[in-house]
Amino acid sequence: MVKTYAVIGLGRFGVSLAARLFQEGQEVLGVDVNEERVEDAQSVVTHAVIADSTDPEALKSIGIRNFDTVIVAIGNDIQASILTVLLLKEAGVKKVIAKALNKPHGQVLDKVGADWIIFPERDMGERVAHMLLSPNVLNFIELSKEYSVEEMKVPESMTSKTLRELDLRAKYNLSVIAIRHAKSINISPSPDETIEAGDVLVVIGENKDLEKFANLQ
Ligand code: ADP
Repeated sequence: MVKTYAVIGLGRFGVSLAARLFQEGQEVLGVDVNEERVEDAQSVVTHAVIADSTDPEALKSIGIRNFDTVIVAIGNDIQASILTVLLLKEAGVKKVIAKALNKPHGQVLDKVGADWIIFPERDMGERVAHMLLSPNVLNFIELSKEYSVEEMKVPESMTSKTLRELDLRAKYNLSVIAIRHAKSINISPSPDETIEAGDVLVVIGENKDLEKFANLQ
């Protein structure tokens, strides 16, 4: 389904986000006070305009309240970021996503009504640390503080065995929800499926159990 997005602040983060949404067929308006940034972004979004998002009139003239989602990707100017979120919520924008530089910034964004606050540097740092500590983990999604889905390389000791033999549910309290072979992916693996070297398992479970499993050789 095509949705309309406005991305305010066309720095590295804002442009990557806007360009990706546009590549996926979404309607994306890029907004920045800086003319050069707007020109550079012109070719990677549906439309890009010069506007100062701390000016209520400027927001009104771009029809900001008609967008399904507005992302505030203003970088270092914390004051501008906070004021922008406040004005967007006052204008009636339903979903406002804002990038926070640090915890206090995030707390204020929450107070002024941001619906979703992201901490790109903090989250990426944690992600990289997690992947360094568990070299078998290729990718992961945190479902909650305790539960995740992880994509991991099969430990050598487990190759050429079936899921039934491995018995990961009983031994590690984990469920295998998919197996990726060289070229195909099986999204409903049967207990008799044999795990081959080079396969990737998509596993769901508690983080502490996933960690134990990820450190097996
Ligand atoms: P990044 O770390 O993602 O590269 P930057 O701080 O470089 O972030 O980019 C933030 C962008 O937000 C800049 O292009 C800047 O011009 C823009 N910006 C800052 N304040 C406003 C504002 N009030 N209205 C619109 N854009 C703004």
